[in-house]
Amino acid sequence: MTRPTDLNDTLFQRARRVIPGGVNSPVRAFQAVGGTPRFVQRAQGAYFWDANGKRHIDYIGSWGPMILGHGHPAVVEAVQQALLDGFSFGAPTEREVQLAEEIIRYVPSMEMVRLVSSGTEAGMSAIRLARGATGRSKIIKFNGCYHGHADSLLVKAGSGLATFGHATSAGVPPEVVQHTLVLEYNDVAQLEEAFALHGDNLACVIMEPIAGNMNFVRASVPFMQRARELCTLHGALLILDEVMTGFRVALGGAQSVYAQQIPGFAPDITVLGKVIGGGMPLAAFGGKRAVMEQLAPLGPVYQAGTLSGNPVATACGLATLAQVSQPGFYDRLAGSTRALTAGLAGAAKEAGVDFCADSEGGMFGFFLLPELPQNYPAVMETDRERFNALFHGLLDRGVYIAPALYEAGFVSAAHSAADIEETVAAARAAFAALGR
Ligand code: PLP
Repeated sequence: MTRPTDLNDTLFQRARRVIPGGVNSPVRAFQAVGGTPRFVQRAQGAYFWDANGKRHIDYIGSWGPMILGHGHPAVVEAVQQALLDGFSFGAPTEREVQLAEEIIRYVPSMEMVRLVSSGTEAGMSAIRLARGATGRSKIIKFNGCYHGHADSLLVKAGSGLATFGHATSAGVPPEVVQHTLVLEYNDVAQLEEAFALHGDNLACVIMEPIAGNMNFVRASVPFMQRARELCTLHGALLILDEVMTGFRVALGGAQSVYAQQIPGFAPDITVLGKVIGGGMPLAAFGGKRAVMEQLAPLGPVYQAGTLSGNPVATACGLATLAQVSQPGFYDRLAGSTRALTAGLAGAAKEAGVDFCADSEGGMFGFFLLPELPQNYPAVMETDRERFNALFHGLLDRGVYIAPALYEAGFVSAAHSAADIEETVAAARAAFAALGR
């Protein structure tokens, strides 16, 4: 009997001849976990079907944007309508204004917004704006936080780079990163030290409020509070990179979660992406009016984009935000996410496997560790082989989680109780195969 052809493998081989590593973004290559990436044929709701026609329950959701699940009818209709009116104009449209108004409505620390096409662009532009607005050069970022692949931020970045085991990317001259200070996440003493040394030269601190590029690690409340205080004290800007957490953990983003615990808390600049585009290339940065008015054409900080505020992307984003802003949306989503992590925890316990998990809204992380890590080195104490075995155990059973132990997971509104039960049943078998 001949073995059936694995069409994912066939496509991967073909892709590797014409695309470096066969993928257009490194983590898709399965380099960390080994094996063949699944080539997606189509997706609907909580599922996608790979090139072999096999169904997978999708906990990546395009790495965060697909909060409604794939192919939500209202979003599909909005995109179809927008397409008929034109793909791109390079001139302003009403939908850009509407999207900016909606973002500001739900994230009030953003008094003005500029739309761009990717999280990388938004993060890079936010840093330039902070430097331009303060007239300072130095920036602080944290080990394990990823803010896109702009040169000055590829300093011990997490995510894809960790796979390659490099602290920085080749091709980034040392002079470009000499102003970037990389500190340990959740280390208040180190942050204070850095401000004592460099406070007067610091343009900004950029951080993921809940870091999804080292799986799922929350900034502790004292850490967030101190970062805010130190920035204010020294005239530096606090940039929250909410590309992942924005409209994902709550309607007001992670900053609204921290504002419940730190009275008056707000960042100076917020970076958004993923959910605000609903799966189309769209991202944004915004903040205080006085800071945002430093941008061209009003001010001296240059920033631009041919496809910025694209009419199809803004239609997709607006239709997505119309759904997530329905009453009770995040409560239901958080309930599904907690049901998933509780189910996984139960399955791990039955198998005697070390396990812990955390979640906020529709974003979650789990670790094969006895307790939740607080920073990147602690995350990386995870036994890689065991994680990889678990990943493949789940994948074989039609459950698709991130192919790297340092990535967060995402539940969508389309994930039903039955999907979660099916996932937990798969996990039970995968944990049992893993052994203690
Ligand atoms: N910032 C964060 C927190 C991210 O998670 C990502 C991507 O995953 C980015 C920025 C970069 O966004 P993009 O991949 O759209 O360039």
